[in-house]
Parts: sequence; structure tokens; C-alpha cells
Amino acid sequence: MKFITMCLGALIFLAYPSSNAQTKSQQSTDAQSYFNGEQLLQHIKTLSSDEFEGRQTGTKGGIKAKQYIIEQFQDLDVSPLGDSFEQKFSFESRDKMYQAANVLGLIKGSEFPDSYIVISAHYDHLGISVKESQTDRIYNGADDDASGTSALFSFAEYFKNNPPKHSVILAAFDSEELGLRGSKYFVDHAIVPQEAIMVNLNMDMISRNTKNELYAVGTRYNETLKQLISNFKPSGKVKLLTGHDGKDGKQNWTGSSDHGSFHNKKIPFLYFGVEDHDDYHKATDHYENIHPEFYKATVGLIISVFREIDAIQIKK
Ligand SMILES: [Zn+2]
Repeated sequence: MKFITMCLGALIFLAYPSSNAQTKSQQSTDAQSYFNGEQLLQHIKTLSSDEFEGRQTGTKGGIKAKQYIIEQFQDLDVSPLGDSFEQKFSFESRDKMYQAANVLGLIKGSEFPDSYIVISAHYDHLGISVKESQTDRIYNGADDDASGTSALFSFAEYFKNNPPKHSVILAAFDSEELGLRGSKYFVDHAIVPQEAIMVNLNMDMISRNTKNELYAVGTRYNETLKQLISNFKPSGKVKLLTGHDGKDGKQNWTGSSDHGSFHNKKIPFLYFGVEDHDDYHKATDHYENIHPEFYKATVGLIISVFREIDAIQIKK
């Protein structure tokens, strides 16, 4: 979810190489070997297919997405955070009751098991349009946010060979599109103590941008993260920008997705996402419209940022 904007700029089409070419720098070589890029694409394609019916909270498609995530976590040796992978909750919105569930996985830290990094993405989206005149009625939400959800699996894959120092919670939140409900429930009903959460890394819309730009939002609120991101040198083509946090005259994204729930509890966060595009919150947010090479590169980049964060302690 982001704020709806009018896109007035001309759309520039950028050709991405179809080969899985690696750049020469060491960091990039590492980044590519963190996870299987083709597998990542398969996940986003599956989650954004019509079979998942736009993944709206509590619907058949939403439940199917939840099951899919649990299966991937199990296959990737991720443990449930609580008694099960599901953190169920319900709420009322516009006179309708919703039954929802976050999917929460845990990878125990090797050095600081009682300090947590929450890596998150929301798996819900807008469902099916009620307008029967609309030809394409399914809001597939490939970029928003099958892209972030699928990246959780790449992280899990990475952790199999690179156990984290801090404990990591992989959080696939529900009901973000209905007002950050899943993340709000998570921070209000903490399975781990709130003060034990060191930082939230939230991914929402990370799979396409015609200018190869990815934003890291939230550095304004934390000096350590500000230093870390300003010193971070992305190795590939993707440019990592800061801003969109209420100080640069651009849209303020501080509360635009689940990281907002962490920020409200004064937990440091970094939000990774792209500028809105023409298919934002439209039925055309299809798998075919993502930029595969950009997407694989952003996931590698976010894992690289994670590595640096995991190596230090972040004060609130
Ligand atoms: Zn979103």
C-alpha cells in the first residue's frame, strides 16, 4: 500500500538483459549466490497468478497464499515463531468482520538469540473487483506485494548456509491493505518482547523500476541506520536512494506500509520499495510487468544490507 498518485511522467522502457549475467565485483557475486533467482521468480509468478484470486484477507485466495507461505517455510527449515506458523486475529472494517492470520517464522541467532530482526512483507492484496464490467477483475498484486513475500523465501534460503547472528523473524503480514492490521496486531501482541526487536526491515513493492532505483526509507529516524545506508555501496546496477520520510518534499512513506506499525512503537525500521508505477493498485499489477533482473538485484541488495545490520547493534 502506498498513497495513490497520478503518474504524469512518460514511461520509459528499459531493456533488461535476459541472461543471468553476473557483474564482476565480489559483493555482487556473493549477492547472486545468496539464493536461486529463478526460484524467486517462480514464487512471485505463483503468488500473483489468478489462482490466488488477489489474496484478499480471509478469502479462498488469501488462505491459499497463507498455506503456500507455510509450505515454503517448512521446506526451507524455518521454525514457527509461536506454537504454529499462524498468528490469527480478527477485526471489523467498514461493517465487515475479517478473519486474518500473519505467518511468522523464526531462525535462531547464533550470537544474539534474544535480539530480533524482523524481516517483513505483506501477503494480502486487494482481491477481486466487484465491478462486473471490468474485464480483468483480479488484482494480482505481483509487485504489491508478492515481490516482498517471495523475497522472504530467498532470505530463508540464504540463512540455510549463512546463519544469522541475531534471531530473525520472517513475517508475512496479513491485512496490510486494510490498514496495516497484521503488523499492528504483531507489535501489540508480541510473541517476543517488544524491546527485544532491534529493527524491522520491511519490503513492499521491490520488483520493478524503470530507473533502477530502490528506496531505503527510515534513515531519518536512526543515526546508526543513516550512517550504514550512506556508507553502503551497492555493487550492481540498482541505485539505493534515501528520502520519502517527510523531509525532502516528496511523498512521506513513513506510515505507508507495515514498517509504520514498528515506527509507532519507536522500533527502528528500514522500508525498501520503489516509486509508484502505472499498475499500482490496478488489476494490471501482473507478473509480466515486473522487471526480473531488477528484482533479483534488489533482493540481493537487501540481503547485503541485512548482513551489515546483523553485524552490528542498533540503538533505539
Ligand atoms: Zn503493499
